[in-house]
Amino acid sequence: MNNDIVIKEIEKIKKENNIKIFAHNYQNYEVQQVADYIGDSFYLTKLAREIDAQTIIMCGVDFMAETIKILSPDKKVILPVKEATCPMANMIKAKDIENFKKENNDFAVVAYINTSADVKAVADICVTSSNAVKVIESLEENNILFVPDINLGNYISKMVKSKNIISWNGYCPIHDKVTKQEVINMKNKYPNAPVLVHPECRQEVIEVSDFVGSTSEIIEYASKLDAKEITIGTETGTLHVLRRLNPGKKFRLLSNNLICINMKKTTLEDVYNAVVGNSGYEVKVQEDIRVKAKNSLERMIELAR
Ligand code: SF4
Repeated sequence: MNNDIVIKEIEKIKKENNIKIFAHNYQNYEVQQVADYIGDSFYLTKLAREIDAQTIIMCGVDFMAETIKILSPDKKVILPVKEATCPMANMIKAKDIENFKKENNDFAVVAYINTSADVKAVADICVTSSNAVKVIESLEENNILFVPDINLGNYISKMVKSKNIISWNGYCPIHDKVTKQEVINMKNKYPNAPVLVHPECRQEVIEVSDFVGSTSEIIEYASKLDAKEITIGTETGTLHVLRRLNPGKKFRLLSNNLICINMKKTTLEDVYNAVVGNSGYEVKVQEDIRVKAKNSLERMIELAR
């Protein structure tokens, strides 16, 4: 089947079966084309609770599908490719946090949303890259362990001076690879193009850039920015969204390394197979873990208001 026929088939079957397709901003263009909703992990998680759907096909990586299931237990959640995982989320285990807590009972453990359900369940609260500063500022505890991203943790600790924040030593292999020199080179080559980066980049990269924010914040900022050309320092899939929303602007990727291979594992064929029920992995979260993880997420939602 060619792509046009596959797309038509997907549209038909999803309507007949009340299926909604969610795609993360970092997904391939062909996958974004058939998505009902495109956004970051937290936006999609909140949306899943609100919409009428029997099945949600989450085109992204495993923790995203799991996070949707945690807050929408009555919906069937399918990850089209089981092997699509997040190396950063896998850098911290629930056992690591339990061991830390035994030795440090005066610390609050704050988990980035990019973590497994097991980790969310033993953390005190979750955060996203866009609400981390606000949520951590409003915590009672003074001592904070942030997991798992050391770069985002360093960024938060610079923004929240009133707390003692230490970070786990995980990192996103994609954003961590961006170098300060790449920012300088792009600025020299395209002096009229502001550089917008994600806080999962290293501190030295953030320092020489013009704006730092989550993928959604980058999209919002770039759309409002009065500049005809913009350099983007986050995963390449974001360019599809930016170009669609801003046809008059020119977007360039800061580095050719900004490609997450796990986000690219899902193809149009995988989505088709998940829609027709031939393949895909149905996400299940053990109920006691789900309830604890849900508490960490709901506490965040409350404090981020
Ligand atoms: S871009 Fe980084 S944080 Fe996002 S899924 Fe890929 S490895 Fe994980």
